[in-house]
This record gives sequence, structure tokens and C-alpha cells, in this order.
Amino acid sequence: MKDLSINPAISFDLPELFEGRHLINGVLCDSASGETFERQSPSHGHIVSRSALGSEAEAEAAIEAARAAFDSGVWSRASGKERASVLLKVADLIECNVDRIALMETLESGKPISQSQAEVGGAADLWRYAASLARSTHGDSHNTLGEDIVGVVLKEPVGVVSIITPWNFPFWILSQKLPFALAAGCTVVVKPSEMTPSTTQMLGELLVEAGLPAGVCNIVLGYGVPVGSLMSSHPAVDMVSFTGSTGVGKTIGATASDTLKKVALELGGKNPQVIFPDADLDAAADAVVFGVYFNVGQCCNSSSRIIVHEDIAEDFRDRVVELSRKVKFGDPLDPTTQVGAIVTPQHNSKIDAYVKEAKASGATVVLGGDQLNVEGLGDQFYQPTVIDQVTSDMPIARDEVFGPVLSILTFKTLDEAITLTNDSAYGLSAGVWSENVHTCLEFARRAETGTVWTNTWMDGFPEVAFGGFKQSGQGREIGRYGFEEFFEVKSVVMRIGNSRTPWVQES
Ligand code: NAD
Repeated sequence: MKDLSINPAISFDLPELFEGRHLINGVLCDSASGETFERQSPSHGHIVSRSALGSEAEAEAAIEAARAAFDSGVWSRASGKERASVLLKVADLIECNVDRIALMETLESGKPISQSQAEVGGAADLWRYAASLARSTHGDSHNTLGEDIVGVVLKEPVGVVSIITPWNFPFWILSQKLPFALAAGCTVVVKPSEMTPSTTQMLGELLVEAGLPAGVCNIVLGYGVPVGSLMSSHPAVDMVSFTGSTGVGKTIGATASDTLKKVALELGGKNPQVIFPDADLDAAADAVVFGVYFNVGQCCNSSSRIIVHEDIAEDFRDRVVELSRKVKFGDPLDPTTQVGAIVTPQHNSKIDAYVKEAKASGATVVLGGDQLNVEGLGDQFYQPTVIDQVTSDMPIARDEVFGPVLSILTFKTLDEAITLTNDSAYGLSAGVWSENVHTCLEFARRAETGTVWTNTWMDGFPEVAFGGFKQSGQGREIGRYGFEEFFEVKSVVMRIGNSRTPWVQES
């Protein structure tokens, strides 16, 4: 399409094939079977990594190592100061390795290099924040229970945590979990997505360099079944922290319930931005375009639907279409590219099927609506796509499309906007645009979502908890609330002196 901004392939020397290995008990190792799997870059069509293919044997060995490390107390009973000093070293090492890790992230995921660099560099701050929590953890004390009683409530690390991550933000999502689990004193087994295994292993090497004791963090590369499934069912695992699709999250919840493990789930979303006529429409249109195209829409927080007041709907749609034409799609290795490739050809076809289905159901495609061929790179890309006349019963308005596809719905009243917002199985995030603080506050209080953004979109901070209502998940990540997930609470009640009344009375 001539009226879009497309960055063709640039000339770039791709690095040598990355050879990924498991990290088990402090040692990088191949699979016992010698089997491997490969990842082809979504944007460049080259094999960019070859990783050891984990089986139940490697998952079992990693869980055993994490259990032994936890029970030894080498980390679980280390002081907050000791834990924090390792986490701070990891943060420094991440910053020294941003370019190397970001390049691999882009090659495996297809996302623009500038965004990989921001993701990896920004993750260092999550490690620093978690380090601060490691030193400030405390429970409660009760000094009002009676003259001869003192009660203390201790926080103890939950134990061995399985961390299972998706492909869309491999380094960031791991850093939303791992430093917090480590700060709490847990030991872990990590399984990255089979599509983006390498940056997790790179981080594992930095953990070893930073002096994390052997067995505290173990990494197994491979597929959901058998590796992730064993990590969710194994009796020696105390908690599963999972980010991924709602379907797999439900499977993990069911599997983990057999041994009553603690489960924290960060799942999908169908997130609306609601635009009122009194909003700063330029700012809102820019945020809508950012919200739907960031990471090619392959983002749990994608604002894949907007709910716009009918008085301004046409004007607002035109602004969004105009801006969409200016967003730079194309070669992820070009530093000016804003939107890269789709993760797999199969996923690209799935996105296209949603668009075609919406069209057949009476919606109007006002921009894009097809796969995109980028000069020199092939067609594993999708056009920026805006669909008008969408109704809330259409699959495109209800399902997580996970592509650069925006659905437009309209409303007349605040009540109607809130009804449409909450008419979803998901409840991850929502946004409201209005200059009226009363409108924003009422919306924020009535939206059934874990995060509400008012006059902004996707601003996040390590201090502020993140997570979903309804089928977007359970538990919270980051911030103090996220940190709390990694603890058990133990109450210790102490009697002072010999004042206890005997239960058995002398007759
Ligand atoms: P996915 O559910 O297909 O896979 C996620 C991880 O689970 C992978 O490592 C995979 O190998 C593993 N897995 C698959 N089957 C398993 C099983 N039976 N047992 C244990 N592990 C198993 O998700 P994806 O396609 O990698 O990621 C996209 C999804 O993640 C989207 O739905 C997106 O909304 C969601 N997501 C949510 C958040 C959030 O914070 N809420 C953030 C990012 C992504």
C-alpha cells in the first residue's frame, strides 16, 4: 500500500547462530538426549538460535536443584542485604549487555530494535526496585494481645517457584517476576517460550556472573508440554507464576490445583480506550495509535478496541487513520522502525481471519486489512488496520486478536461506555480520555479492570501493581502487591513468663 510508511530491509550482518543451553544447578548443559530446536527470525527468515530441547528429565533435574538450594538455606536464609547486592549486580550487568541481548530479542521476536533496547535497558530498573524490597521486607508485630503475650507475623519465602513466560516481551516479563521471587528468598525454575528462548539464557549467564549461588535460578528450554506441564504439577514446586494465554493459564491452574500450589496468572486482555468529546483529541488519537500498534498489537495491553462518543466518532476515526499511515512499519533492525513482524505465519493468518470475518459480518475496513509485504523481507507482516461499524457481539470486538487491528465502537452516555467496557470476559486494562475529572474518576471506579489509565495509555512503573480482573488473571505482579505473592505468612504467638492457665485441672 503506497499510502503507508514502510521501511524496507536495511543491510545488516546478522550475528552467528546462538547456541542455547539449560542452566541447571549452576551449570550450562545440553539435553541428555542431545536433541535441539531452532528459531527462525520472523522478519529475516534466517535460523537465529538453536537451543537444547528440554524433556521431563531436564525439568526434573532443575526442580530438584531448586528444591535442594531452597532447603539448604543458601539463599532463602540469606540476609536482605546479601540478596539485594546480587540483584543490583545483575541490574548493572544487564545495562552493560543491552545491545547484545536486544539484538537477539529482535531477531527471535520480530520487534523493532529500538523497542528491544528500551525493554532490556528498562528491565534493569525492575531488578533495582526488587533489590530495594529485599531489604525492606517485614511482617507485623502485635503488642496489644495481653500483658503476657507478644505475637509476630513473619513473612517467609514461598519456596520453589516455577516461572513460565510468553514470547511477546520475553526479557521484560521475566524481569517482572524473577527479581521479585529472588528478593523474597525463593528459588526458581524458569521456562521461556520456545519461540524466544535465548535472552532468558543470556540473563541466566549474568546471574551466574553476579554470584547467584548454584541451583537458586535454573532455566529449562523447551515446550509447554512436557517442560511447563511438569513445572506446574511437580510436588516439589510450591508456586507457579505464569504469563501467557488465558487458555494455557486455565490448564496450569487446573494442573497446579492437584497439589494446591499457589498460582499467579497474568493472562490476555481486550482493552478499550474510551474517548469523550471534551478530550484532548490529538493526544487521545496518538495514544490509540500507540496502544494498538505497539509490538504489532501482540501485547496483553493492546487497546484493540476504542469506544468513542458518537458525536466525534467520524472525526476521531479520521484522525486515527491519518496517524496510522505515518507509523513506520517494516524492518525491525532499522532503528527508525516502530512496528515490526508478526511472530509466526500461523499467527498472521489468524489475525487475517478475524479481519475477514468482521468484514463478512458487516464491519467496514477503513484502513489496511491484509498481510503486508516488506521489500526484501517477505510477508510475515500485517498492515495497520482500522475497522469501523464494529458491534460488541462480533468476535473481533470480544477476542484477543493480538495484531495491529483496531475495532471502533461508539457510545452515547457514560453508562453505555461503561457497559461496553465491562462487556468482556477479560479485565486487564482500560483507558478514559476526558478533560473532566469527574468523568475520569467515575469511569475509573466502575471499570472492571486491574489497571485504568486516565488521559494516558500503558504508563507503567515498578512500584505500581499490575494484573487482571476476571479471565485476565489472578494475583498481581510488580510493586509491593506483586512482591507479596512470593511469601508465606507465619504467625508466631509467644507467651512471656509462666502465666498459662493449665488446661487439665488437678482434681
Ligand atoms: P501461551 O499461553 O501460548 O504460552 C506461554 C508459555 O506457556 C510458553 O512458555 C509456553 O511454552 C507455555 N505453555 C504452553 N502450554 C503449556 C502447558 N500445558 N503447561 C505449562 N506451560 C505451557 O502464550 P503466548 O502465545 O506465548 O503469549 C501470548 C499470550 O500471553 C497472550 O494471550 C497475551 O495476552 C498473554 N500475555 C499476558 C500478559 C499479562 O501481563 N497479562 C503479558 C504478556 C502476554
